[in-house]
Amino acid sequence: MRKLVAGNWKMNGLRADGTALARALAERHRDDRADCELLLCPPATLLTGIAPLLAGSGIALGGQDCHPDPAGAHTGDVSAAMLKDAGCAYVILGHSERRQDHHETDELVRRKAEAAWAEALIPIVCVGETAAERDAGRTLAVIGRQLAGSLPSGAGARQLVIAYEPVWAIGTGRTPRHDEIAEVHAFIRSELGRGTPGAATVRILYGGSVNAGNAQKILPIANVDGALVGGASLDAQSFQAIARAAAD
Ligand code: PEP
Repeated sequence: MRKLVAGNWKMNGLRADGTALARALAERHRDDRADCELLLCPPATLLTGIAPLLAGSGIALGGQDCHPDPAGAHTGDVSAAMLKDAGCAYVILGHSERRQDHHETDELVRRKAEAAWAEALIPIVCVGETAAERDAGRTLAVIGRQLAGSLPSGAGARQLVIAYEPVWAIGTGRTPRHDEIAEVHAFIRSELGRGTPGAATVRILYGGSVNAGNAQKILPIANVDGALVGGASLDAQSFQAIARAAAD
């Protein structure tokens, strides 16, 4: 399957620099025609401005979160329908920063995934252990619990992406060893496969300090179907280098 490289801009970007970055990435991708799929997840305020810049570029647009309800009295929130309306095809759900900052639970993430599917958005459900959990040898138990709680039953047969993002690797410059990444991705694949034949087609992204320097080593690891990239996605040259590594 073609690899997917997704850029999570988090809470970064005003109109001028956000649109300039999207325009630069679209131009680079048109010139490269790299054999991979690219996705940008800018802040919600930039979605409608960036959508037309990506048209025809082969780069998809995604949100960083959505509310589980379709509409209503939820001040400050964004619904899946609003993301769809803004031109999104994907939505990141259950990122560890949201689990921490907004106390999001597995159950809430599961309801958000249902809301995304109701609008034909593809959820990118994030899971990952903390440093303390890894040190305690609980990585697979934690990931298993998060998958069981965050995914609706039969999710493996739906349009779905999983992102394995060790919390301690996000924004730190540290990454797990390659055998550790392989172990977790194989575990996720087998958990998804329980009773769901279509699970082999679910993309499993690795996220956590992926950059232009390490992408060539991380992306070929078995069951790594792409990358979720934070910091390095804010730099056109770095993101392009990661895309090229994904296409190799
Ligand atoms: C992320 O936040 O999804 C992420 C992977 O961040 P970074 O690449 O900066 O570690």
